[in-house]
Amino acid sequence: MPQKEVIYMKIILIKYGELTTKSGNRKLFINILYNNIKKALEKYDVNIIKNRVRMFIETEDNIDEIVNILKNIFGIHSIVVANRVNTNIKDIEDNVLKIAKEMEFKTFKVETDRADKTFPICSMEFSKRIGAILLKNIDNIKVDVHNPDYLVKIEIREDYTYIYEKELPASGGYPVGVAGKGLLMLSGGIDSPVAGYLAMKRGIRLECVYFESPPHTSEMAKNKVKALVEKLTEYDANITLNVVKFTDIQEAIYKNIDPTYMITIMRRMMYRIAEKIMEKEGLLCLINGESVGQVASQTLTSMKVINNVTNVPVIRPVACLDKLEIIGISRKIGTYETSILPYEDCCTIFLPKHPVINPDIDKTIAYEKSFDYERLIEIAVNTRERIKIKKDYIKFDI
Ligand code: ATP
Ligand code: MG
Repeated sequence: MPQKEVIYMKIILIKYGELTTKSGNRKLFINILYNNIKKALEKYDVNIIKNRVRMFIETEDNIDEIVNILKNIFGIHSIVVANRVNTNIKDIEDNVLKIAKEMEFKTFKVETDRADKTFPICSMEFSKRIGAILLKNIDNIKVDVHNPDYLVKIEIREDYTYIYEKELPASGGYPVGVAGKGLLMLSGGIDSPVAGYLAMKRGIRLECVYFESPPHTSEMAKNKVKALVEKLTEYDANITLNVVKFTDIQEAIYKNIDPTYMITIMRRMMYRIAEKIMEKEGLLCLINGESVGQVASQTLTSMKVINNVTNVPVIRPVACLDKLEIIGISRKIGTYETSILPYEDCCTIFLPKHPVINPDIDKTIAYEKSFDYERLIEIAVNTRERIKIKKDYIKFDI
């Protein structure tokens, strides 16, 4: 292969995650990951090169910032900041020495991976040879194969050789979008942003839906949900939020339905509306933050009666997690502080004292006949607001 002119240059090397196991879809996965990275790095002057096993990002500067962004992109297994040199003995030797002279260490180890089998020296021999050069040219250092201060990694490939120290772990998972697109029911609580994050990690691209009940719920509560969407744009550069006016439906429920069944029926209405939005936007599944047994509407019987209004797949990523585990993830992804802001949610404003724990499906259907919900659902779907939230969007007043 002809050698290119550029000889010595810093480069970010991206190793793919689980997608390497999906050989049939590899091309699609790599293309989606490539587009996601391109979108996430829109504001930087970078050149992204992809191949079957790696992606390379060439950039003049901003390496640390770019690495931090890449750490949140699903489908990346690890990130390496490397020096790229031409694959020939002299270039490699000179550059390893030059780089090592800039480092501070007392002990070191050289590890070579000779992927290019036409390279004339085998990995072990080459590591020894480089080790000898370092010992000869740098004072007061010695080899420690078990716990070195400085690990010199040399990856010899046909076109270039990469010299680096650390491989930084990234998020893993599948590139967002490979699994298709789903609708996240996002409430402003702790659970649903975590559910969205976990769904994205499995490759599901999100749209969100938020049900608001003005004037019972405030603009601040809505801004809080927007701020949560903005947090999720760390993982996918832009996400659309559907804001649905739920006031008329909620007031009709309050007026017409036995208090013990209010929550059951309210949630069935949410599912119905969500399903209609999915149809309109070509989305494949619903995602929510329900967790088995957490509240009355999340007992298995309640879930069965609520889920009964739809046949679409409903994904509940936090269904079997403890609240403390969910809180742990929300802290890690940075949504916790926003989620605990004390703004009212439409579920809490009309909260009955004793919601039914084991709702009966026939009773539920009979109660629902007391008002013309289909018309109200149509209006709610058609009057929804669609807000596209981009990474680095203006901060919200909350
Ligand atoms: P969260 O902490 O996510 O708000 P929760 O423990 O408060 O969840 P519920 O209020 O019973 O539980 O809601 C269960 C799920 O239903 C939420 O995780 C969310 O996915 C969805 N949901 C509830 N209220 C709304 C809303 N106003 N808009 C959109 N989705 C909602
Ligand atoms: Mg809630």
